[in-house]
Order: sequence, then structure tokens, then C-alpha cells
Amino acid sequence: MSPFSEQTRNYNNTKNNMAAATRLISRLTLVTGGGSGIGRAVCQRLAAEGASVVVADISEESAHETVAGLQNDLRGQAHTATAVDVSSKESVTQLLTTIQTRYFQPPSVCVHAAGITQDDFLLSMEEEQFDRVIKVNLKGSFLVTQAVAQALVACGAPKGSIVTLGSIVGKVGNLGQANYAASKAGVEGLTRTAAKELSRFGIRCNCVLPGFISTPMTDKVPEKVISKMKSLVPLGRMGEPAEVAEVCAFLASDDSRYITGTSIEVTGGLFMG
Ligand code: NAP
Repeated sequence: MSPFSEQTRNYNNTKNNMAAATRLISRLTLVTGGGSGIGRAVCQRLAAEGASVVVADISEESAHETVAGLQNDLRGQAHTATAVDVSSKESVTQLLTTIQTRYFQPPSVCVHAAGITQDDFLLSMEEEQFDRVIKVNLKGSFLVTQAVAQALVACGAPKGSIVTLGSIVGKVGNLGQANYAASKAGVEGLTRTAAKELSRFGIRCNCVLPGFISTPMTDKVPEKVISKMKSLVPLGRMGEPAEVAEVCAFLASDDSRYITGTSIEVTGGLFMG
């Protein structure tokens, strides 16, 4: 490569990074599951791009820990930590009320990352294990998407972006995860439907499908299973939460303004095609 093209590439990279660093200025954003793993990385990324972040998690303490580590938004508007149980309509409704009381507006970006696993083989899975995972992962996605969309429509907001976290497992299934795979397949269907219904209000809805990402959720997976999975990933490693967060930030921002109703896999190529 000539020194000239190297120089041009560096200039373009700097320009792109500067644009990325400011593309969420003055945006109020909500991140559920923001106290851990991918959600926490999303909070860090959105804050670094200039957004005000409401960090919501079942554990208020974890949400506070996330806020303590966030870069201050460029308008000097503080980030907030709050407790929410996404599987409860009452709790989600209260969350939106709290946000609008504090910021006088609903969040125009929502990244819904709260989720759980309760793995077991189909032959031995208890009904409670199935119900709990569906309630948090699928019903939670419905409640959060609905509440954010209702608030945006009610105030006549010109645009919104809702990003849900599905999983590649929702597409291909996974041993021991009948409940989780079903919930995540549901999240994709819910998100596509929301995209169709909400586009006329300027609200875009997209789903991110991570593969195997190093977080407290996958820390529970036995090392033997992790090694096997890694051997199947064309890029040869697990993903980092920040690598999922970058895609969420893109979908949150106007850089994705012509994208809605889609799912983006962040899997290192796992199960492609
Ligand atoms: P994580 O580290 O366990 O983070 C999930 C967060 O959500 C935790 O803080 C969790 O709290 C919280 N949460 C659980 N139930 C909640 C509820 N009812 N209301 C509000 N918050 C709740 O998991 P992660 O790996 O970052 O996963 C984030 C999202 O990505 C999830 O939807 C997950 O299904 C999805 N995903 C992850 C992977 C992966 O490989 N890590 C792959 C595909 C998809 P507790 O810790 O107290 O439960």
C-alpha cells in the first residue's frame, strides 16, 4: 500500500471514529439488563457516543455499578440506574414513568438485553423452567417493546429505535435449551412484527443474534462445551460483549436509518448459512 493510501485510510478511520463518537449526542437511551455482560457493554458504548443512559436491571446494585463506570454524556445530563423486572408489566410501566418524570421525555433508543437461561434436557425440563425463561425473555421483550413504543407514540416523537437481543440458538436450536431457543425464536418474530406495525410512527425495530459471547451467562457453561463451541466458530474464539455492543449502537443510531425488521448475527460465523 502506498504511503498516500495509508494516510487516506488513517484519515478516514479518524473521521469515522469521530462520527461514531458523537452520533448519539442528545439521545436518551434505555438499556435493560444493563447491570451485566452485553447490556453493560451496550451502556458503555452508548455513553461513549454521547447518549444519556438509563441502566435498568433486576439488580439495582449492578445497575449502579454500571453507571459508576460510564463516561458522562456530552450535554452533562446524568445517567441513571434503576431496578426493573422486565417480566412484570407493573414494573416496566413504572420504569417508563420514572424515566419520563426524570427526563421529561421517553427514551428514543431502547436496547433490551435482559435475559436468563435455565438449561435442562427436554426430557427432564420442569414446566417452571420453561415458563420462567419464556416469561423473562419473550414476555419481557413484549412488555419493554410495547411500553417504549407506547410512550414514543403518545408524545409524538419523530423517531425511535428498539433493539432486542435474540440468539443464534433461536434459529438453530441447542442441546439443553428448548426453553431458551423457543424464547429467542419468539423474540425475533415479535421484533419483526413490531417493525411492521411501528414503522409508520418512525420507530425502527431490529434484533441482534449473538453466538457465544464471554459474559456471566456463558460463565455457567461447562468448559468442555465451551471448547467444543469454540472449535465450531470459524473465527476461532468466543465473542466479546463490546463486539455485540458495537452492532447495537449502529442499530440505535441514524447510521441504520433505512434498516428495520432485520436480525443481525454476531457469531464469528457460527452456524452461518
Ligand atoms: P448476563 O450477563 O446474565 O446479563 C443479563 C442481565 O439481565 C443480568 O444482569 C440479569 O440479572 C438481568 N436480568 C435477568 N432477569 C431480569 C429481569 N427479569 N428483569 C431485568 N433484568 C433481568 O447475560 P448476557 O450474556 O449479557 O446476555 C444479554 C442478552 O444477550 C440476553 O438476552 C441473552 O439471552 C442474550 N444472549 C447472550 C449470549 C451470550 O453468549 N452471552 C448469546 C446469545 C444471546 P441476573 O444476573 O441477576 O440474572
